[in-house]
Amino acid sequence: MPATFDLAPADLAGILAGEPGYRARQVWRALHLGRAPEEMTDLPRRLRERLAAELQPALTPAATSVSAEGDTTKWLWSLADGARVETVLMTYPSGRVTVCVSTQAGCAMACSFCATGQAGFERQLTTGEIVEQVIRAGRATPAGRVNNVVFMGMGEPLANYGPLWAAIERLHADVGISARHLTVSTVGIVPGIRRLATERLPVNLAVSLHAANDELRNQLVPINRRYPLAAVVDACRVWTASKNRRLSFEWALIDGVNDRSSDAAELAAIARPLAAHVNLIPLNPTPGYLTRGTPPAGVRAFRDRLVEARVNATIRRNRGTDIAAACGQLAAAMLTPSGQPPSRGPVLSQ
Ligand code: SAH
Repeated sequence: MPATFDLAPADLAGILAGEPGYRARQVWRALHLGRAPEEMTDLPRRLRERLAAELQPALTPAATSVSAEGDTTKWLWSLADGARVETVLMTYPSGRVTVCVSTQAGCAMACSFCATGQAGFERQLTTGEIVEQVIRAGRATPAGRVNNVVFMGMGEPLANYGPLWAAIERLHADVGISARHLTVSTVGIVPGIRRLATERLPVNLAVSLHAANDELRNQLVPINRRYPLAAVVDACRVWTASKNRRLSFEWALIDGVNDRSSDAAELAAIARPLAAHVNLIPLNPTPGYLTRGTPPAGVRAFRDRLVEARVNATIRRNRGTDIAAACGQLAAAMLTPSGQPPSRGPVLSQ
């Protein structure tokens, strides 16, 4: 029997055999609102017990870490076959709650500065494994649900398109999260971006650019050899034209590597015609990449150069570095069985 959120309607009907027809919809809805069978008090007790016995979670917590500030939680999950992934929950003073979910165990994109890329690819996640991360994180919040989902955890979402998109449809229809609160982040898989442009749901798109010339991007983001910048920019243009949503570029500032004034000029030349918003974040330390993040003054100078070139740019606060939960630090395969993260670097904060 598949895990709960991978059940087909026929599986659920089987579990609910002998029950009135409306039960399947009722149970499905309750599950997606984060209710455990025991909490479904609108069901007869015998049915609750049957559901509790038959429904299997896909994710077993192997470790949970909370940042020193208390506003970032990271789960390391064990999947049924022993694969491991991580999920990060971030709460904001406004009350907004964002969950960062994984779409693959590991990642095949091999970006040199990213801990997940350094560890390599293990397998695709199923739709249910993706959806369950959102539900489980939501259950850990006071309101019992999250407001925002960003597909920025382990893996390349557009390299697992079918299950990703099915999860998005589910989060929209059954969990009730609107498209504007769902963000797909990609390393720049051109066919995937073009396919997103054809979808009915206008989710947000973030592209992890990090370099605005092919020579540097080939080094930092190897998939650029297959999908070079011009092709990525073309696909972004198609997406923007069809979706009327704000495009973002992610840019991890690496000391002396992509934080020069020439980098800002090249980035501005790409971002401005697309009206893209640039998210700047100083590179987070990872075990396999020795160059550090740009110091705070350099980050501000880079932002100022972009703003002078009339590009919208925001410096992102670096969260969860103390629990290796920050961008690029998710690396479940490299964790020890005790759940201890790999070596920690200095906490960079804006
Ligand atoms: N594969 C997708 C989804 C991962 S999102 C993508 O590349 O967009 C994770 C984000 O963190 C990406 O923008 C990635 O480039 C960025 N990142 C990776 N390593 C990082 C690091 N060490 N410091 C800061 N950001 C990093």
